[in-house]
Amino acid sequence: MLTTSPETWPEKVPLRREEPLSQWTTLRVGGPAEFFFEPGRPEDLAALIDRCQAEGIPWRMLGGGANVLPPDEGVRGAVIHTGGMRRVFREGDGLRAWAGATLPQLVRAAAESGLSGMENLAGVPGHVGGGLAMNAGTAGWGMWDPLEEVVLRLRDGDLISRTRGEVGPGYRDGNLDGSVVLEALFRLEPAPKKEIQARIESFLRRKRDTQPVTLSSAGCAFKNPPGDSSAGALIEAAGLKGAREGGILVSEKHANFLIQEGGGTSSEVVTLLLRMEKAVEEDSGIRLHRELVVWSA
Ligand SMILES: Cc1cc2nc3c(=O)[nH]c(=O)nc-3n(C[C@H](O)[C@H](O)[C@H](O)COP(=O)(O)OP(=O)(O)OC[C@H]3O[C@@H](n4cnc5c(N)ncnc54)[C@H](O)[C@@H]3O)c2cc1C
Repeated sequence: MLTTSPETWPEKVPLRREEPLSQWTTLRVGGPAEFFFEPGRPEDLAALIDRCQAEGIPWRMLGGGANVLPPDEGVRGAVIHTGGMRRVFREGDGLRAWAGATLPQLVRAAAESGLSGMENLAGVPGHVGGGLAMNAGTAGWGMWDPLEEVVLRLRDGDLISRTRGEVGPGYRDGNLDGSVVLEALFRLEPAPKKEIQARIESFLRRKRDTQPVTLSSAGCAFKNPPGDSSAGALIEAAGLKGAREGGILVSEKHANFLIQEGGGTSSEVVTLLLRMEKAVEEDSGIRLHRELVVWSA
């Protein structure tokens, strides 16, 4: 039971109650968040988390909602959305970005500044904080690669600057261990703008050719297993390309993508994930690991 109403907290962070999370996920699923906060600055985000913890309110972070699956029944406590903190600043040959800057914004800012190193993120939706939490990227490259430092709020509330080596991210996993990304500095390389733009176009073309980028999805549902096989090829070989649960479809274009066809729910996604895991394990003996972050209520 709350002793104070969040509307009266001194932090004064914009708040909506019972906000439908389906509006904030790219797969368009998820029930309401009891409290939906949108801090405007990194220090407001840190102070808000301190306040939630002091008040005993469970909280979780939401960026672009491009790789997360909230439950249909919604979530208790606070969802803290980084969409209010979108700033990107030039710093020498680098870019400093707040956690809510979008990945397309970062790619564009680098290209317009004649700085190379972000092209691999072309066409990847999400925010800087979510991107670092997932170590978003392409095969063999993740967005921690060009990172010089990240400012984190650690579990215990300390604010600290860390390098990639100190955090130790892995494949599609930022290894944040409960820390929250407040802002990050990326060290980039000056390069001719035309070359940067050409690389961006090439990444976008590859995505358009191989992924259902115009449809509502949450990106790859599973990580690629170690070795040469891809999760998409394994799901296809197991016969689940085009499989459906209610309004959710396994993409015909890329079997690792789940598509919202209209009216699909989070529980239908989970049913399909379980079917895919079982089918692939029976077919190939390989156990898939989820990339999609499935929230509990
Ligand atoms: C069409 C499409 C294409 C995609 N292509 C790719 C691709 O090529 N490569 C790739 O890697 N991914 C891809 N994805 C997946 C997705 O874009 C990435 O995983 C992205 O990094 C998710 O960022 P987000 O801000 O949306 O995170 P969210 O989905 O909002 O959150 C993901 C996780 O990060 C946590 N989080 C969010 N903000 C913070 C923060 N500030 N601090 C700590 N934790 C935080 C959340 O709690 C959650 O656990 C694609 C998705 C779509 C829809």
